[in-house]
Amino acid sequence: MVSLIWSRPAVTTVTTVIDGNEVADGIRADLTGAIERLADAGVRPGLATVLMSPDPASQTYVSMKQRACEDVGIEGVHVEVDTDAPATELYGTVEGLNADPDVHGILVQLPLPEHVPAHEALERIDPRKDVDGLHPENVGRLVAGRPRYKPCTPHGVQRLLGAAGVDPEGKDVTVVGRSEIVGKPLANVLTNESEGGNATVTLCHSRTRDLAAKTRRADVLVAAAGRAEMIGADMVGEGATVIDVGINRVDADTEKGYELVGDVDFEAVKPKADAITPVPGGVGPMTIAMLLYNATAAAALQEGVDVDLP
Ligand code: NDP
Repeated sequence: MVSLIWSRPAVTTVTTVIDGNEVADGIRADLTGAIERLADAGVRPGLATVLMSPDPASQTYVSMKQRACEDVGIEGVHVEVDTDAPATELYGTVEGLNADPDVHGILVQLPLPEHVPAHEALERIDPRKDVDGLHPENVGRLVAGRPRYKPCTPHGVQRLLGAAGVDPEGKDVTVVGRSEIVGKPLANVLTNESEGGNATVTLCHSRTRDLAAKTRRADVLVAAAGRAEMIGADMVGEGATVIDVGINRVDADTEKGYELVGDVDFEAVKPKADAITPVPGGVGPMTIAMLLYNATAAAALQEGVDVDLP
């Protein structure tokens, strides 16, 4: 008698590394049509960036945003306010931009110096020009499920999930970080009853008890705490989608003396994840793409041109 012994083939899972640059390129390409339709109506979207900080990282972000505007045909205007100037000088700058009909979007780069309360500055932006979506009117609209502009990073995360074929509907999502610019609006974006939403979101922060239990049970885990590589493999469930928003500088033997890492220990977590974003090259490029998206939407709204943004 012949007995056959079958050996089970080894199961290998392949993790998708979500390429934020590629997804962002697709969004920029989609915007071209809308920007052309605006041009046909005699409108060129204008985006003003306002910087009141000597921080080199903020300077880099602002110049990246300006370059990105130029690339897609948005008119970029950059204004610098002296870091030591009184808060009223920043407020005056914002009010001047509110009144400028060629400026459709205003972005005040955060963080601001200690003597300038960020909420005071943000509240002075005309809500229709608030392309960061941080004015209380726009925050309220988002919470109510009727967003005017979705904040750029949360919107970028939502688009990355869509591009990776991950529909949040019905899924357990854990977000680590409850900031006004990332964590809280992301929880709203993913909870809202709309396409790319309908998730069940757990929003964690530094007082959360047993964080690992909450991150492990997530179908989708978003790390936005600003703590280098704090999410290790033991904090991630098998087959999860992991989105790393964090950008942290750590000392390294490089020309600049540092390197950028995320909040997720990429190499350790990757084998457990179904899909994961890298840092850099994940959420970062999406934040800029969604800023261009909001600036285009703002121009269309203020000029009354229907551009049918995707
Ligand atoms: P904030 O510092 O404003 O918020 C951090 C949040 O993380 C807080 O809610 C804090 O809790 C929470 N947190 C910190 N440590 C822990 C911990 N050990 N366990 C649980 N929660 C913790 O940061 P931002 O939201 O502005 O940014 C977060 C990260 O994302 C940063 O690295 C930033 O550079 C990056 N970023 C990246 C962007 C991109 O385009 N890729 C855009 C914006 C930000 P608590 O509220 O209790 O203090």
